[in-house]
Amino acid sequence: MPHRIVVLGAGYAGAFSANYLARQLDPDDFTITVVNAEPDFVERLRLHQLAAGQELRHRPLTDVFAGTDIRLRVARITGIDPGQRTVSVVDDTGGDQIRYDTLLYALGSTAADHGIPGVAEHAFHVAARPAALRLRARLDELGDDGKVLVVGGNLTAIEAVTEIAESRPGLRISLVTSGELGGWLGQKARRHLLRAVDRFGITVHENTTIERVEASAAVATDGTAFVSDATVMAAGFAVHPIAAASGLAVEPNGQITVDRQMRSVSHPDVYVAGDSVFIIGNNGQPLPMSCASAGPTSKQAAAAIIGDRTGRRIPTISMSYVGNHISLGRKDAVYQLVDKQARSKPGALRGRTAARVKSAILDTAAWAVSHPTFGKPGHNYAAAE
Ligand SMILES: Cc1cc2nc3c(=O)[nH]c(=O)nc-3n(C[C@H](O)[C@H](O)[C@H](O)COP(=O)(O)OP(=O)(O)OC[C@H]3O[C@@H](n4cnc5c(N)ncnc54)[C@H](O)[C@@H]3O)c2cc1C
Repeated sequence: MPHRIVVLGAGYAGAFSANYLARQLDPDDFTITVVNAEPDFVERLRLHQLAAGQELRHRPLTDVFAGTDIRLRVARITGIDPGQRTVSVVDDTGGDQIRYDTLLYALGSTAADHGIPGVAEHAFHVAARPAALRLRARLDELGDDGKVLVVGGNLTAIEAVTEIAESRPGLRISLVTSGELGGWLGQKARRHLLRAVDRFGITVHENTTIERVEASAAVATDGTAFVSDATVMAAGFAVHPIAAASGLAVEPNGQITVDRQMRSVSHPDVYVAGDSVFIIGNNGQPLPMSCASAGPTSKQAAAAIIGDRTGRRIPTISMSYVGNHISLGRKDAVYQLVDKQARSKPGALRGRTAARVKSAILDTAAWAVSHPTFGKPGHNYAAAE
């Protein structure tokens, strides 16, 4: 019987890894099944654009996996039993269980709610396609007359607030952050960001912490109520609770604890990649949840699965973190490089050139998911005896 590899999630990490494995392993010896909630590959890096009202390219997973023997199962994963090696799923036809011999967990993350009351009921976010579409529908309802409040001061908040401001100039847009907006950026990048925010007419409230969200306001710890017709939570990501609930060893933030080869330390037949994995980067700090981290963690997890199942040597993939590309609408961006200690370097690429580079990076990331060997021929590695 072939060895059953099941990949959970078909985002940047899961779709890339599955496609890579399918191009390296002998289909007579291995089956690869991908389980994903949606039938499409979702370019999560562009979801703020979708929320703002732009159309994204449609990328069906059947196209992404074309030319491989990958079996796609569109279903919602509800749990894992790592003892029995089963995954529980539900779809339109009801509940089911999928058996695996090797599991690759790549379910990504969602918007963190930081335990703030009212977020689930009243706030919007841009960390998943259905959520981005809900926000978009709300912005359509508001037309040119409404107040939008973005909560957060880091990458997603900056990208979301500038994108909405550029696409919906009639709205009154504010941002509230518990720290400084882009406070970690180098001086040049931060000055550029603040100029862009000013140009878009975005009102910024720094050093202000939201303690509850209501239907038409977000209330800060000092009692200030920010009246809002759409409050957007963009204050970091949180991983899905499925891993912890399934008994896999996890970190306090819910990310799965792995060895350097991306194997779960509690269940070594479970491998992890993308936002769901806790891994220390070359700089001695945890890799941030980012597409930039999904690349090396996916390559390492796929290499470990191939090595463990075929007896080949497992290469060590570098876990570097070099910087952040931040879009400021469609025509502007900053690219902030960081040093080996993850501190922002003084200089930064800014303006239209940075926007073009960012757009090229996003296109390359989506392309790589369908072309995981980057044009190199694949293999047909047989299972080890
Ligand atoms: C608006 C926005 C902009 C971003 N910009 C950048 C950027 O510029 N640079 C950068 O490096 N990073 C950026 N990120 C972060 C980046 O998107 C993530 O780090 C990256 O997507 C992680 O990849 P992943 O494969 O782990 O997760 P994902 O890409 O989120 O994929 C997870 C997959 O699992 C599926 N899934 C989840 N739960 C279930 C379930 N229960 N059942 C079935 N399927 C499920 C999802 O549908 C999805 O297909 C951005 C994120 C957002 C939201």
